[in-house]
Amino acid sequence: MKTGQEYIESLRKLNLNVYMFGEKVESPVDHPIIIPSMNAVAMTYDLALDPLYEELMTVKSHITGEKINLFNHVFQSTGDLVQKVKRQRMLGQKTACCFQRCVGQDAFNAVYSTAYEIDEKYGTDYQERFNKFLAYVQAEDLVVDGAMTDVKGDRGLSPSDQKDPDMYLRVVERRPGGIVVNGCKAHQTGIVNSHEIICMPTISMKPEDKDYAISFAIPSDSPGITIIYGRQSCDTRKMEGSQIDVGNSEFGGHEALIIFDHVFVPNDRVFLNGETEFAGMLVERFAGHHRPSYACKVGVGDVLIGAAALAADYNGVAKASHIKDKLIEMTHLNETIYSSSLACSYEGSATPSGAYLIDQLLANVCKQNVTRFPYEMCRLAEDIAGGLMVTQPSEKDLRSKEIGHYVEKYLRGVDSVPTEHRLRIMRLIENLTLGTGAVGYRTESMHGAGSPQAQRIMIARLGNLEHKKALAKNIAKIPEV
Ligand code: SF4
Ligand code: FE
Repeated sequence: MKTGQEYIESLRKLNLNVYMFGEKVESPVDHPIIIPSMNAVAMTYDLALDPLYEELMTVKSHITGEKINLFNHVFQSTGDLVQKVKRQRMLGQKTACCFQRCVGQDAFNAVYSTAYEIDEKYGTDYQERFNKFLAYVQAEDLVVDGAMTDVKGDRGLSPSDQKDPDMYLRVVERRPGGIVVNGCKAHQTGIVNSHEIICMPTISMKPEDKDYAISFAIPSDSPGITIIYGRQSCDTRKMEGSQIDVGNSEFGGHEALIIFDHVFVPNDRVFLNGETEFAGMLVERFAGHHRPSYACKVGVGDVLIGAAALAADYNGVAKASHIKDKLIEMTHLNETIYSSSLACSYEGSATPSGAYLIDQLLANVCKQNVTRFPYEMCRLAEDIAGGLMVTQPSEKDLRSKEIGHYVEKYLRGVDSVPTEHRLRIMRLIENLTLGTGAVGYRTESMHGAGSPQAQRIMIARLGNLEHKKALAKNIAKIPEV
């Protein structure tokens, strides 16, 4: 397994085609806006080698028997699923941001079990191809980005009915050695920090959508791939050289568009190719695995609760009963998310491939919680912090020879705490609720791993209302007619 530093050096060797602010980024590894997101992924390497965390971060490969990073593992038991959830929370606590590597893991698990079932039906060799790829990823300790969300164009039309046929990733040419694809995947978490990409369809497909029912893996610097880096609120603060004003100066996440312009994929890297009826299974399994992965938000929530409690201490209001109650409410909300992510993992079961899948109903309840509770937690944190979190002057003002003493004097809270500490905690709350960190903590909680309605559809399907009606009839002594 690699160290964080070795991982960063391995990224340096990639020849990525990345754009930001309309210009090509010559060395993403050295870009001040990108570095914090790279640091967050580097933590997934360093902690795997730390004796304190290796039990949570590593596992034995079911393919080779070697010790590997859990991020590159196909779950073999409910214990593995639970380990993932606990890892997610811990990494959220350590980075207070999206650490990006989980989309790949959830993609592995979805592709692995689906490929097995396609092979059973059609006699294809997708799982063998996938295992070869996975063994390579495990041996090299790589980061793989799971790419699902197509740009989708007119949401009312199916992939093959779009005016522009590239609105969903598709095969444009079939050659003896492989396929050529066109399209664009949106909101791609961590792509600039990834060695490889696994693409999957974004929705269930009909027989006429054959060219869109594709899944494959390719290196992130393959010819024809262009990455356009997504903006985040307050992102250019990272270029100002101030630690305080960024709020979370060491870590961050990122999302980007990935454009595929006639990208060649060799056959041994293709895991679904026109078997339209399996697209839905792949989507559902990926989403099912990714929804409890949002235990990452519980870890970030722990940091936010801590920041709110510190703000209360520094403001001198920690003893007020309504403040205590708000911190209790934040804790309750946070632990409720954690409970549902653990529950769906403990209730997981084996797929025909032997790989374990979470309980889908509970996983969807978990993610539905995530679309709501972090919003309420942000509201409570802002309430506790007070308006200073969005009105305080910059670090340069604090350091100014002429006016710094005013900032120091007038923005002090309780006398025992330096003004700078108060300003730092306010900026951290700003980062998590409104700044670059809010992408990962707030809006990603809404839309990442599927928007709220996607979970409600699954909850409706799996809620089994008829069974519940029968229970009520039985108790009320209503005979069947
Ligand atoms: Fe992982 Fe959470 Fe980021 Fe998704 S949002 S990639 S689960 S850290
Ligand atoms: Fe996400």
